[in-house]
Formats: sequence, structure tokens, C-alpha cells
Amino acid sequence: MFIDTAKIKIKAGDGGNGSVSFHREKYVAAGGPDGGDGGRGGNIVFAVDTNLSTLMDFRYKRKYCAPNGEDGRACRCNGKSAQDLVIRVPRGTIVRDAETNLVIADISGDEPVVVARGGRGGWGNTHFATPTRQIPKFAKPGGKGEEMDVRLELKLIADVGLIGFPNVGKSTIISVISAAKPKIANYHFTTLSPVLGVVSVGPEASFVAADIPGLIEGAADGVGLGHDFLRHVDRCRLLLHVVDVSGCEGRDPKDDFEKINTELENFSAELAERPQIVLGNKCDIASPEQVDEFRSFIEEKGLVFLPVSAATRQGLEALPGIVYERLQKLPPVTVYEPEYVRPDPAQEDPRAFEITRADDGAYEIDAPWLESILEGSDVSDYESLQYFQRQLHESGIIEKLVEMGVQEDDTIRIGEFEFDYVF
Ligand code: GDP
Ligand code: MG
Repeated sequence: MFIDTAKIKIKAGDGGNGSVSFHREKYVAAGGPDGGDGGRGGNIVFAVDTNLSTLMDFRYKRKYCAPNGEDGRACRCNGKSAQDLVIRVPRGTIVRDAETNLVIADISGDEPVVVARGGRGGWGNTHFATPTRQIPKFAKPGGKGEEMDVRLELKLIADVGLIGFPNVGKSTIISVISAAKPKIANYHFTTLSPVLGVVSVGPEASFVAADIPGLIEGAADGVGLGHDFLRHVDRCRLLLHVVDVSGCEGRDPKDDFEKINTELENFSAELAERPQIVLGNKCDIASPEQVDEFRSFIEEKGLVFLPVSAATRQGLEALPGIVYERLQKLPPVTVYEPEYVRPDPAQEDPRAFEITRADDGAYEIDAPWLESILEGSDVSDYESLQYFQRQLHESGIIEKLVEMGVQEDDTIRIGEFEFDYVF
């Protein structure tokens, strides 16, 4: 069950750019390349902060950017890598991809988790010196830091769900037994949202109980409050089935009990199997005969029956202890979720491109990687130009242009750059 959610933007730092620089020394005519590498951009890291219990802070600050890496400088001076940005969240916060809703990370452990990686630092021109290319006038720009929209969810799974017809006293019982009531945010049913209560049993022992309103006939078919509530019940390990034993609203407690169970069965056979403790509420206004009759009806089914009264608190002092002890013996309910698969940059073609014909007849090449090579190089420099042309050939761009029927002197456009096609 989710009690809190927030949507934020995160952006890891970009890597610093590599530097184009040449060694300069008195009396040395042409020094070698000595441009340093850029530093790595900062990661976005999530870590548990045990002092936090809500996602409130994220409603006010929605964008988190890690610092960029420093650019490389002359004299083989590498740029400094940036520090990570640590986002502190309550234990148990789930980070989801806002678009697909898939889980990226579960921040429950003590180890911080990197959610968005900083860009790699770019290479300085020292890396581009080869025996034939002695004067490299280009460097590699830094990689972009990962950027994404994520949804944070703090989930508090209710161990115990209170089920029963409306007005049997579920809300009253939960308000009597629980110490804290976390507020549930962002729920479709604003007026009828399930109420969570943290029931403490001792200084170190507590469990979460959910008052699930409106489980009525037809809920499994989508009538009434329907499936969303049943889905919450789905995660509870133990159900407290509340019945009005007094029948004060003209209802038959046995009939009510059976109907609610039929609802559960229709929704999921597994859920119907979940252990139940039956609370016969409103004992203060029920006759002892009514209570006894209902007790034997329940006990014949092999279930535990507890007579209670939310009005007088009869039987409710002992309830948390009984529930807690029962929970200790129950296995956790596993909820399976599809896994988030991080897009693998290595899988993408690093030299992908697309060529379109513009209205004026120019060939427009859409290839961001090529633009960054152009930006980082001096086109009037022969060596750089050769490197650039080799990229055009190796990536298959030239081949594609020829296939599209490019002619001598046709205009080729790459981002901001424009030049004529020559054989
Ligand atoms: P829910 O719809 O199951 O959540 O029921 P509520 O907790 O809202 O209670 C419905 C009505 O029953 C309210 O008017 C309560 O005051 C009343 N009620 C709840 N528990 C008791 C009880 O033990 N004895 C009596 N006499 N009335 C109760
Ligand atoms: Mg209620």
C-alpha cells in the first residue's frame, strides 16, 4: 500500500570536455598535443535517511541536478570529476521510471544506490595523436549525464486489513487501536481512501493495519469501490473480518460474513485463503445470545472469534497483541513486479544517423555524435578534416548519400554546419 508519492526530475552531471592544446616551449617549434581529459559528471545517488518518514520535501523541490565534470586543460591537466548528488529518502522508498512505471531502485538497504550516472569525461587531444596525425586539433566532448523523470513512492504495506460491510465499525476500531495515522496521498478516492493505522504493541513491535472501506457486494465485478480496494487487501497477510453482531441495521451477521467472503473469492482464490480473525463488533448493543450464536457459527469453521466493542473498547486492549502474535507466524506476501531494464548505451549504434532531403534540396544529416566531432574540431585544419571524412565513410553516411543520388556540389547540412559535397 502506498502512502506517499512524488514526481521529480533528476539529472546526473555531464562529463567535462577534453581539451585541445599543444605543448609550448621556448625554442621548440611545434610541441605535441597536451590537452587533458574532462572529469566525470556527478552521479545521482539515493540513500536512506532514517530520520525521514515522508516524501513531503519532494513536493517543494522537484528538480535535482548533479554537478558537471570539469573540462580538461592544457599541459595534460585533467578536469576534476564532480561530486555525486545524494538524495535522501525514507527507508523503503521505491524509485520508478515515471514513463513506464517500472521499478528502477528500491531504497531499503544501507548502501546508497546510483540511479542516474554522470557522463564520462571527454578525451583531450593527447589521445588523438597518431604517427600520421601529429597535430590533432580535436578532442572528445564529455558524455551527457543521464536525465530522467522518476516517481518516488514510499510504500507501507498493511500487514492487516480490516474488511466488512459498511457501518460495521471498521474505522472506529482502527482509530481505537492505532497510534499514528499516516496520510495517504494521491489516491483516486479522496473521501473514501483506506485509512492506515500504525498499531504499536510494544516499544519495538508494531504493525500496519488498513481500514478498507466499502468492500460491498459486487466489488469483485467492479461495482462500488471495487478492485482498487481489493488490491490493497491482496497484500495483507491477515484479515480482520469485522461483523456487526448486533444486527442493528437490520442485517444478518452470518449472511454478511458469507457475502464478504464470496466477494473475496470472486476476486482471488488466493485471497480467500488468507487467514482471518473474526471480530464480532458492537457487543455492547448485542444480546449474549446473539454473540454466542455467531461465535459458534464462526468457531465451527475453525476460525478465531473475538467479541469486541469499539464503543466501550471491550476486547480491543488485547487485540494488538493477539494480531501481532499471529503475524509472527505468517509468511510475507510476495508481490511480483516486472523489472526495469536500464537502456544499454552499448546496444545503441554509437554512429547512428538519419538523412533527409530538405525543401531546398540539401541533404540533412541528423547525427548528434557527428555534430560533436565537428564542434570539437577545426574544419580548416587538414588533419581534422581527414578524421572527419573518415567518420563519414566508416559510419556509412557517404554510402547512403550516394544511394540517395547525391551530386557534386549538392549541399550537405549537419546541424549548424553546411558544406558542399565533393568527390
Ligand atoms: P465502518 O463503515 O465499518 O468504518 O464503520 P464506522 O466505524 O464508521 O462505524 C459506523 C457506525 O457504527 C458509527 O456510527 C459508529 O459510532 C458505530 N459503532 C462502531 N462501533 C461500535 C460499537 O462497538 N458499538 C456501537 N454501539 N456502535 C458502534
Ligand atoms: Mg469506515
